[in-house]
Parts: sequence; C-alpha cells; structure tokens
Amino acid sequence: MKNWLHLWRWWLLLGLFWALVAAGLTAYSRSSRDQIIARELDRLAIQTKVVEDNLTRQLTAIDAILRAIAQVVPHWQRNPAEKTQGMQTLRNMEVAMPAVRTFLVLDRRGEISLSNRAELVGRNFASRDYFQAPRNKPSLRTLYASAPFKSVLGNYVINLSRVVQDTQGQFAGVVSAGMDSQDGNILLNSVRYSPDMLAMLVHGGGALFISEPSQEGLFGVNLAAPGAMLAPVLAANATLAVRQAALPGQTALHLVAMRRIAPVELAMDQPLFVVLTRPRQSVLAIWRQDVISLAAVVILLAMTSMLALSLIQRQRAQKIMESKRLKLATEASQVGIWEFDLVTRIYQWDAAMFRLFGLDPKNASPRNDEWIKLLSAADLQRMRDATRDTIRQDKPFKMTFQICRPDGQVRYMRNRAALYCDDQGVPRRLIGATEDVTQRKQQEADLRVAAVAFESNESMLVTNAQVAVLRVNQACVRLFGYSVAEMVGQHPRKLKSGRHDLGFYQAMWQQLLAQHHWQGEIWNRHQDGHEILCWLCITAVCDDAGKVTHYVANHTDITSRKASEEEVRQMAFFDPLTQLPNRRLLQDRLQQAMAQARRDGTCLALMYVDLDKFKPVNDLQGHAAGDQLLKDVAQRLQWCLRESDTAARVGGDEFVLLLPVISQCSDALEVAKKIHAQLRLPFTLSDGQMVQISASTGVAIFPEHGADEATLSLHADVAMYHAKAAGRDQFVLYHDGLES
Ligand code: GH3
Ligand code: MG
Repeated sequence: MKNWLHLWRWWLLLGLFWALVAAGLTAYSRSSRDQIIARELDRLAIQTKVVEDNLTRQLTAIDAILRAIAQVVPHWQRNPAEKTQGMQTLRNMEVAMPAVRTFLVLDRRGEISLSNRAELVGRNFASRDYFQAPRNKPSLRTLYASAPFKSVLGNYVINLSRVVQDTQGQFAGVVSAGMDSQDGNILLNSVRYSPDMLAMLVHGGGALFISEPSQEGLFGVNLAAPGAMLAPVLAANATLAVRQAALPGQTALHLVAMRRIAPVELAMDQPLFVVLTRPRQSVLAIWRQDVISLAAVVILLAMTSMLALSLIQRQRAQKIMESKRLKLATEASQVGIWEFDLVTRIYQWDAAMFRLFGLDPKNASPRNDEWIKLLSAADLQRMRDATRDTIRQDKPFKMTFQICRPDGQVRYMRNRAALYCDDQGVPRRLIGATEDVTQRKQQEADLRVAAVAFESNESMLVTNAQVAVLRVNQACVRLFGYSVAEMVGQHPRKLKSGRHDLGFYQAMWQQLLAQHHWQGEIWNRHQDGHEILCWLCITAVCDDAGKVTHYVANHTDITSRKASEEEVRQMAFFDPLTQLPNRRLLQDRLQQAMAQARRDGTCLALMYVDLDKFKPVNDLQGHAAGDQLLKDVAQRLQWCLRESDTAARVGGDEFVLLLPVISQCSDALEVAKKIHAQLRLPFTLSDGQMVQISASTGVAIFPEHGADEATLSLHADVAMYHAKAAGRDQFVLYHDGLES
C-alpha cells in the first residue's frame, strides 16, 4: 500500500492539480457564460425599451387624434354638411399618421358614419371587438386596443378606439384608428441588431400582432395563456421580464426580454407587449468556441505534464534500478565500498566491508583502529604510502594485502581506489573498493600446481567437448613426435595406428559418454610411422550442470613392457633354443586336441621322436654344433607338419609331434616316414661340417592307444623305446603287445 502510494503520489498530485484547474476553469467559464447571458438579456431589455418609447409615442399621437376626432364627431354628426369636411380631415390624418391605415367613426349602432376610406362608410361593424369593448364598457378615459384581426381591407390590424359621447353624455359611438402592422414591422426591425433575433408585438389578450421575421406558426396561439410565453410578465403585472425559455413549439432555449407597453396616461384597456428573443446557442457561440479552445489548451498542457511526469518517473525508476543493480552487483561480487574524507579524516564503510573484515558494524567502526589491527605492520605502511601517493600524485590506488580476521581466518584483500576532487580541483575524498581475493589466489596457486603437474613425464592431451585438441604437454610431444602446433585444433584420431576396428572406438566412446571414463590398451602411431602400444586413460571433465566441457587423455607407453611380457610368455611355453612349444604348451594343446577329438569322434596321433646317437655329435663337434643341429631338426620337423599340427621339444634330443586330426593310423605313419626321410638327410652346420643322424619314433593313436593324455603319452614313449631297442632309425606304432 505504501509502495503503491509512493508510486502514484505524483500522479495523484498531478491529477488533483488538473482537476482543480478544470474545476476553476469550469466555474470561470460558467460565470462568463452567465455574464454573457445577463448582458444579452440587458441588451434585449434595452431594445424593448426602444420599441416601447417609439410605440408609446405613436400610441400617444394616435390617442390624441382619436380624442380630437371624438370631440368633433358630434358636431359632424349634427351637421351632415360637415361630414365631407370630416372625411377630409380623416384622410388628412391618415396621411399625417403613417402608422394608421384607417380612421373609422361608428355611430351608436356600429355603422360607419365617417372614414378616410369612403368605401367603408355605411357598413356596420357592430360585431367588431373595437366597437363591442367600448360599447359594453364605455369610458371616456380608456383607450381601447382591440385584438389583432384581419380587416375587410385585408390588412392585419389592431384598432385603437375611443368612446364618443353625445351632448347628454350618452354613448354615441366609437372613433377607431386601425394601426398598421407594416409600420410596426419597421419599428421591430430597427431594434433587431442580429439576424437571429426575433422581435414580436403581442396584444395583451395573447394574440401575436407582428413578428419580425414572420412567425406564421404563432398566429392564433394564445401567448398570454397560463404558462405560455407572456406568463412571467403577466403574472407579476411586471413591466419587464427577462428569462431563458423555449419558443412555443420549439425546444431550443432562447433569451427572452418582454416589456409591457401600456402608457398610464392612455389608460389602455389592454396592454401591448414587445417580445425580443435571441437563440441562446448563437449568443454563446463565441463563448463556446473560447471554452473549446481553452479546454484544448488545458488538455494539451495536462497531457504534456503527464508525459513529462511519466518521463521523469521512468528516469527515476531507471536511476533506482541502476542503484539497485549496482547494490546487487556489489553484494554479489563481494566487493566492499569505502570512502575516506580527506578533510575530516573519517572513513565510511558499507555493510559488505564489515562482512569482508569479519567485524560487527554494531561494535566496530571504521573510525576506530579496530580494522587496522587486522593488518600486518608492513601492509599497513604500504597502504599509508599508497594513500599518500594517490592524494599527492593522483596515482591510481591499487594494492593487495593480507588480514587476519577476528575469527582467525587469513584472507587476502585487493584494494582499489580513486581520488575525487571538488569543482576547484581540490582533492576531497578517496573512494575505494575492497575485494576478497583469497579464493582467487588459491585458484591461481592451484593453477600453478596444475601447470607443473601437466608438464609431468606422462603424456597429457586435453580436448574440448567437441574433441578438438586444446593442449598437449611436452611428454606427449616426445611420445608421438608431433609438435604442439601440429596437435592443437586436431582430433586425437591423428594418432590412430589403424590396428583397431570401428567397433573398438565405438565401445570406447560408449563407455566414455556413459561413465565419463575409459582406460585400456590402444595402439597409436608415432609421427614417423612406428606403432606405440599405450595404456590410455581418458577422463571427461564436467561443468556444474554435469555437461562435458573437456576430455583429458593420459598416454603411457607400454610397448617395451608388453615386449618383456611376451618374452616371459615365450620362456614359459616355448623352448628357448628351438622356439618350439615346450612340454607345458604341448600338454595344453594335447588336452584341447583330445577334448575336441572326443567331441568330434575323430582320431589324433602322438609321436615321440628321439634322435639316435646325438650325444656323440655333442662330444665330437661341440655343444654349439649340437645346439645348431637341434634347431635344424626342429625346422625340418615343422616342414613335415601342417599348420594345425604341433612339434614340441620336451627334452634334450627328444621331440613330440601332435597331429590333432587324422583319419586313420596310416596317416600318422606316413608323416613318421616323411620325418625319418627328412632327418636322414645330412645337416650342414654353421662351420660347414656335415652331420648325418637318424631318429627313433614311437606312435600312439587316440583313442585306440589311450583314452587320456598320460596313457597316450606313455604308450607313444613305450613305442619309441621299442624303436630304439629294435635298432634305432625306425618308427614303431604302439600296440598292446609292447611292454613298457
Ligand atoms: P640314444 O641313441 O640312445 O638316444 O643315445 P644318445 O646319444 O642320443 O643319448 P641320449 O638320447 O640318451 O641323450 C641325449 C643327449 O643329448 C644327452 C646330452 O648330452 C645331450 N643334450 C641334452 N640337451 C642338450 C642340449 O641342449 N644341447 C646339446 N648340444 N646337447 C644336449
Ligand atoms: Mg637320443
């Protein structure tokens, strides 16, 4: 609610201001409108006065004439000879009185006895209002004004009449003057100062006599009826009435001024009324235009002020936002802001400064030395020097120092400050920002450690998430022969040997993506083309959201280790002299071959071959020659065998041949025969000596001569001994009769 008020306060004030302005202007325009109306009514009233004055003069003149005529009428009536004279006098009167069209003298029966209009003489107008009224109520004092009517001459007239008395004082008739409407028109027109003005002359009985401009619709309307147009002036018997009213049969308001015309000295039986009107709308036309213009100006000003206010508010809101943003930024960045007044020598800290220094703002103040105690003497001196240099030389203030906070934590702070001068250029304040850089320092140290670790003897390669190489260390350069420049930006597949198929790499990536780690043996290729067997560890580095950002690959060259492993294996399973499988490997293969033969229901042959009289070769030609001979024998044995067969050396000059798949016994004997033939051929030793030997061979067939390895081996051996015993250089197939 408070915020709402704060936000809308200026709008409320502005709204209130313009509401007041609008109210003031409305009041002002209303009063000016009322003034205009009052002035106009005054003006109309004055014009009615003009009409009254003119009409009064005319009526007075007519009355005077009527009186004069009434005086002489008895005389004319008594002396008919005077009638002509009288007629002439009436004609002269008509000429003299342009307002009067007709003068009539009616006798007591209502017959025209004299008139300026000869054609009327002798006619009886006893029924006329202008005869009836004086006859019914004869009074010498009264001037009778008849209701307007259409005369026999076709004119619309009001007749003014006076009573004629005979010498006995009896009613002797009426003298009457017909007032011409034309003359009245001229009079009414003369007071119309505006074409929209309506001027009317109305008889006291309520009938319209003259209107200018012509109001045909009003003829026959009783304007004196209760509530009708003349009501206000009739009711109070007032001389003048002004008002705003609609004309009969209309709705638009008019300003109306009505004046009663009934000069006292004439003692008229019915007054006349002059009515002047003007449409209110046209009277107020200029005023309305002024009001519209004024309203337009006010609205324009109001809108301008609202626009200005909204601009100001937007600017203010922006400033508030900016300061909030700044506050948020300083809070988020853990930066403390401080100010040092050079005149008062007083420090001012914001809340963040207290937090950084681990001080409680309630107990500690930057004015006291509480925070200074947290600095070492050397750092304090450096700070004082830097402050002095900044003030004297306007140098940028920048330093990092250490504090030991009250809670015992050692923190690193970075201070930056700038000097602020007043308009005269006199330094006034030092405004600074202090930032806790402990973590950054720690990170920098970590980075330094990481940099040293990176340059270890192990090959390291770092890629981005798209597996483009970012960094390689020197060990990597040494291992693969590519320079840093040749590696950076490349895909590590540059190191591929081509030994592994696509499935190998797919499995590697599958595991890497799933577990973010892979390790295993991999063949890579050196820049010069030679292959290197590596133990490769790849680790994915993820960001806070768990998204992979880097891959770190660590290659260890295990080529030589692998070679020595191979050597050990060779020693364990192979005869070092002839490179033929030894007894252990033979047994292994024999076991597998027998299992296979058992499954397939096939036969296999095992042959024991012992060289005859080998010892003498050693003795006569030397041990090395013996060795050479053994190697050559091994080679010849292999020549005689198929790929699937095995030739093993199981003792000094004793060899065992395993033929895992034979179809019949004779197949084995054929091989034995071939071997014997081969071995009988002379051997040429390295020193050029020729040696000739032979061999004794025992042959046993699985499953015929032994269902297990031991029995089969024994029987092959037995057969071999029999061959020896039988005189050597022969092969013997085991059979049950042979003694072991
Ligand atoms: P026989 O006809 O009865 O088989 O007699 P032989 O002379 O062949 O002697 P025998 O088979 O009993 O002994 C094999 C000899 O082979 C014994 C040993 O001096 C010799 N010998 C054993 N191992 C090696 C070796 O690795 N190198 C050499 N040069 N001679 C060996
Ligand atoms: Mg031997």
